[in-house]
Amino acid sequence: MKELLLIPGPTPVSEEVLSSLSRETIAHTDDRFVNIFLSANQKTKIIFGAENAFPFIIAGSGTLGMEIALTNIIDENENLLVVSHGFFGDRFVEIANALNVQVDHIKSEAGDRVHPDEIMRKIKEKKYKAITITHVDTSTGVIANVEELAQVVRRESPDTLIVVDGVCATGGVREEFDKWDIDVIFTGSQKALGVPPGLTLLAFSKRAIEKRKSLKVTRTYYGDILKWIPVMEDPHKYFATPAVNMVYAIEKSLSMIVNSGLENYFKKHEILSAKVRAAMNILGFDILAKYPAPTLSVFKYPDGIDDLQFRKALFQKGIVVAAALKELSGKYFRMGHMGSITEDELLIAIKRITEVVETLKGNVNKGEVFNSFLSAS
Ligand SMILES: *Cc1c(COP(=O)(O)O)cnc(C)c1O
Repeated sequence: MKELLLIPGPTPVSEEVLSSLSRETIAHTDDRFVNIFLSANQKTKIIFGAENAFPFIIAGSGTLGMEIALTNIIDENENLLVVSHGFFGDRFVEIANALNVQVDHIKSEAGDRVHPDEIMRKIKEKKYKAITITHVDTSTGVIANVEELAQVVRRESPDTLIVVDGVCATGGVREEFDKWDIDVIFTGSQKALGVPPGLTLLAFSKRAIEKRKSLKVTRTYYGDILKWIPVMEDPHKYFATPAVNMVYAIEKSLSMIVNSGLENYFKKHEILSAKVRAAMNILGFDILAKYPAPTLSVFKYPDGIDDLQFRKALFQKGIVVAAALKELSGKYFRMGHMGSITEDELLIAIKRITEVVETLKGNVNKGEVFNSFLSAS
């Protein structure tokens, strides 16, 4: 049996994507590769809803995307507002500190989200050059209402740049970069796109690129989008060698998602998350998030189930889930249900979880658990 990697990234990689990785490496300036790269760029715009934006595909993890976002749009000592729903929101504060940016931080309770009025109040008080919003915070499973927050920002402070961390959302959740008037968005290859870790995908608005051009200091060389724009427009050009095989893989996955319908892919995530949560609820696991994301869930252990014992027993049955982070660790665990994962695979996971709960805690009404999985939508 194939091991099921149900952590919030990396996620399972399909056979098609895996075999695209093992194709022969060709020159990064070869026409055949150039066409693959251009196709991947074009599909990157589609998944972000960013027809009018500049797309980038750069080797590095999601955190590189965060750093590229900030280094290209904010100068030292300018004001940044970070809206955080957990660990990954907080990471922007650390990056801002490393870049000598003046940062204010609004943070929700774990599982909750920041109220738009609170953001409104902040931006009335002070002029912010940029604001960051994490679409899905992977530590809490909370999804932000990016559209609503972007409207608030645009209304109160039209020239504040809006940065969206889509790492645990893009592909699995609708994003409308153009319509919502976002300035920078990025994701990582290993979450809802079902590709191994190694690439960050980004989109920048014209406004964000203008801001990059007007920066007083450049604090990044590899991450400078002005160096990458010529390459993304014509990959025959060289700045730094692209990760050729990873570009095969992302192009393969994006093509599969776009060709089978992005709407269907969103819908799949909605339905599978509803099924997993319905079954887990019968098993006694509540979710942390008041505003749950379709890509992952953070489940609270019922009384009598020990975190390490549970995850170890599950691992022995070929199901890998993740520990919760920081103050949530020991009391919760995290389970991804995004990317290439199928309903059949998640049903197997639920069966194995049911067995483990039975071993650790005693009798479970299995019929009810499986029926709730099968009937939820
Ligand atoms: C995973 C994740 C990151 C960090 O990505 P890495 O690839 O681990 O660097 C950032 N933001 C969010 C929301 C994430 O889920």
